[in-house]
Amino acid sequence: MTARIIDGKAHAAALRARVAAGVAAFVDSTGRAPGLAVVLVGTDPASDVYVRSKGKATLAAGMIGTEHRLSAETTEAALLALVGDLNADPAVDGILVQLPLPRHIDAAAVIAAIDPDKDVDGFHVVNAGRLAVGAPGFVPCTPLGCALLLEEVLGDLSGLGAVVIGRSNIVGKPMAQLLVDRNCTVTIAHSRTRDLKSVVARADIVVAAVGRAEMIRGDWLKPGATVIDVGINRVDDAHGRRLVGDVAYDEALAVAGAITPVPGGVGPMTIAVLLRNTLVAAHARSGLPAPAL
Ligand code: NAD
Repeated sequence: MTARIIDGKAHAAALRARVAAGVAAFVDSTGRAPGLAVVLVGTDPASDVYVRSKGKATLAAGMIGTEHRLSAETTEAALLALVGDLNADPAVDGILVQLPLPRHIDAAAVIAAIDPDKDVDGFHVVNAGRLAVGAPGFVPCTPLGCALLLEEVLGDLSGLGAVVIGRSNIVGKPMAQLLVDRNCTVTIAHSRTRDLKSVVARADIVVAAVGRAEMIRGDWLKPGATVIDVGINRVDDAHGRRLVGDVAYDEALAVAGAITPVPGGVGPMTIAVLLRNTLVAAHARSGLPAPAL
């Protein structure tokens, strides 16, 4: 058996096309385009790549993207002042502060300062709380992208056993909540989990969000399982410099029913969902019903 490869790029392109159509309709009814402000502090190369690709995707969807690039020496007070300005700017529907922030800045304080209704990354505690109680709000882009991919591949997820490996606020925890909301029976595994292999072996759905290259081996998987690999790990070995996921991809191909590649799986969905969230924010802020996406 060879697993079906889940083409994240194609699914993301389809979502982006639906968002672009939604943007055009929004412009028709309101006379303005949705606006996304992205803030980058410092010169972290990976963050720079993410910010550039978010900027490009925003423009391609017909939205107004503004980039605020601040020096690594920017004070927390100056960053909070910028967030305050963006909160007050009626042309800004979504605000994203790229993480990680330099160590002298308290990231939690900055996220707390973002207007929850412009928090398109879904990191504000108000949005985390909304997700926890099932109220409408913004859900972090990566786990929501994973949930959308799972629904595209499997349809109804009701009753399936899922393991989420990783318990970060950005990926693991919201992922587990999204799966519970979709009626999965969910196990959250993490660095203190005992016998991870046997936990994984029971799961119909495996979402790996650890950040350890190829940690999850093919022979851990239940045959036919659907594997969503969130991990992005840079390795330099006999095969050269490349990106690999948290799952040993070649081994998993022989056992899984479907699997996301790295790159080209979850990553493209993350940006597409950011655009989706921004369009949803623009509708809510304009008093319009949520768009069908
Ligand atoms: P994190 O470091 O905040 O969390 C990692 C989690 O893995 C922790 O909860 C920890 O308990 C768990 N863990 C660590 N060692 C473990 C072990 N041996 N066994 C089981 N669990 C273990 O990371 P994160 O921000 O959640 O990101 C996870 C990975 O996903 C990283 O590789 C990151 O680069 C990637 N990521 C990708 C995207 C994307 O768009 N594709 C977005 C966000 C994160």
